Amino acid sequence: NQPLSVVDPEIAEVLDLELGRQRDYLEMIASENFVPVSVLQSQGSVLTNKYAEGYPGRRYYGGCEFVDVAENLAIERAKSLFGAAYANVQPHSGASANAAVLSAIATPGDTILGLELAHGGHLTHGMKLNFSGKLYNAVSYGVNPETFQVDMDVVRDKALEHKPQVIIAGWSAYPRHLDFAAFRAIADEVGAKLWVDMAHFAGLVAAGLHPSPVPFADVVSSTVHKTIGGPRSGFIVSRDTELAKALNSNVFPGQQGGPLMHVIAAKATAFKIAATEEFRDRQARTLRGAALLAERLTAADTREAGIDVLTGGTDVHLVLADLRNSKIDGKQAEDVLHEALITVNRNSVPFDPRPPMVTSGLRIGTPALATRGFGDVEFTEVSDIIAQALLGADVAPLRERVQALTSRFPLYPELQQ
Ligand code: PLP
Repeated sequence: NQPLSVVDPEIAEVLDLELGRQRDYLEMIASENFVPVSVLQSQGSVLTNKYAEGYPGRRYYGGCEFVDVAENLAIERAKSLFGAAYANVQPHSGASANAAVLSAIATPGDTILGLELAHGGHLTHGMKLNFSGKLYNAVSYGVNPETFQVDMDVVRDKALEHKPQVIIAGWSAYPRHLDFAAFRAIADEVGAKLWVDMAHFAGLVAAGLHPSPVPFADVVSSTVHKTIGGPRSGFIVSRDTELAKALNSNVFPGQQGGPLMHVIAAKATAFKIAATEEFRDRQARTLRGAALLAERLTAADTREAGIDVLTGGTDVHLVLADLRNSKIDGKQAEDVLHEALITVNRNSVPFDPRPPMVTSGLRIGTPALATRGFGDVEFTEVSDIIAQALLGADVAPLRERVQALTSRFPLYPELQQ
């Protein structure tokens, strides 16, 4: 039982280098965050050794008395956080939560209606190479070509045209609130189940800073590692227990075998943290940061250079930079920001004239920096650094400005490098 640095120095080096990267760059990938040390502790714990197929009190293995406590805590905390009557905390990831949801509420061959992938939807909402597009008849609604927002009249028309069994509301790259009540009304009109995938905005919902889908949807799925800032994993909640049996059996044994008990324990801790005032403050800083960034990227100098923001602003933790009219494309923008020590991802914008490997957009998120401690002053500074980088300013002084920020907000000071 030697330490990692002795057993496998090559992997130990990867861990060291990755910690250094996370410390030295400004992490602005909208789906990423930094888990607290308490979550790292559970994930690197002896709970990883335990098989616990089944559910608390009904396991197919002995010795589950302690992991049952962890799973029950995670379930109860998820329910209380989201005002739900049902929670399943076993999904290994957002995608496996979504696979379980679909298999619980639809039959292969059924029609599912979700937001078009190229307009900000997710792979699991009907992409043709994904299980959702292979097993189901996937149809989609897009955003309005003028406003770039989801138009509920279009969703309704599509629903009336295709008569889906499932309507999906949720996104991976969309900067506005969705109208869950309107989705509910349309689902009722066509006799569809409404499934909301709140993977991206769940932390904002938990903090009460985003409308909750739970009262409106038949079922809500999520990840834990985006705005919530917990371990990489998924979960499912529902306002009532009508689908409890179907959902549970479609997670296990439907999609998964043994649950990851170390991750489930870490989820319990993440949900506990998400109920605190400190968490709410962090989500509020996340939103302010995104609003400040949208404001900076729509200022006169960026606009003149053809740089803009889709929908003109944001309601959430991310901004979609619109580079359709700028000389700099998504790939070049991602690269120049990387040189300036800022990590973002390029992203196709709806109706993108450039190819998918190039793109005309950037998806820029603020959750990880809010977790790092950033507030208005720092987000104003970061926003200007991004704007200057996109405008072609000399990168060396921008790197220095980033380094001034990263050194003022040390990441994981308790971890050795
Ligand atoms: N659902 C949405 C809306 C997402 O954005 C994502 C992640 O990108 C997922 C599901 C899938 O999560 P995971 O990567 O954990 O499978």
